[in-house]
Amino acid sequence: MGNRDALPAFIGIGSNLGDAEAYVARAWDELGRLPRTRLAARSSLYRSAPLYYTEQADFVNAVARLDTSLPALDLLDALLSIERRCGRQRRRLNGPRTLDLDLLLYGRQVITHGRLTVPHPGLAVRRFALEPLLELDPDCVIPGVGAAADCLERCLDQPLKKIA
Ligand code: ADP
Ligand code: MG
Repeated sequence: MGNRDALPAFIGIGSNLGDAEAYVARAWDELGRLPRTRLAARSSLYRSAPLYYTEQADFVNAVARLDTSLPALDLLDALLSIERRCGRQRRRLNGPRTLDLDLLLYGRQVITHGRLTVPHPGLAVRRFALEPLLELDPDCVIPGVGAAADCLERCLDQPLKKIA
């Protein structure tokens, strides 16, 4: 693509309903088709125990690195549209979902908007997001927070296993 305006954006992927690994595979595919965007890297797949509402299946998690020139809100809308096409329904806060796509980081930008907060507020405290992110960018700094590696040190008590 060679787009000089492209920024690196990191997307957190999660699924725990139906064939979770197949939904993650679909996510790679759909992210690779976004306009003005290149799927630059994909992390390994991880399995995590649900953190908040615990009466649900384990999650499969991964992180994608995109190089994109989509504005952040357009990227968010594109992610929500992929979720809808994958049958996502919002029934319960933090409940089971076929596919969750979160915009974790958008370049080095800090965004506070009614429907978009970047860096994603959960990123710094969630091992299932930090560990695959660090796999793709070991020196990652979370704007306004600090080194992602230091954040990971503080949440190693959360169970997480690399599966593929
Ligand atoms: P969660 O991911 O916390 O389980 P949802 O996926 O249901 O919650 O997202 C609910 C809303 O969160 C979305 O409609 C979106 O507008 C908002 N949101 C705010 N910041 C972000 C972000 N960085 N990435 C994704 N969604 C976000
Ligand atoms: Mg989400």
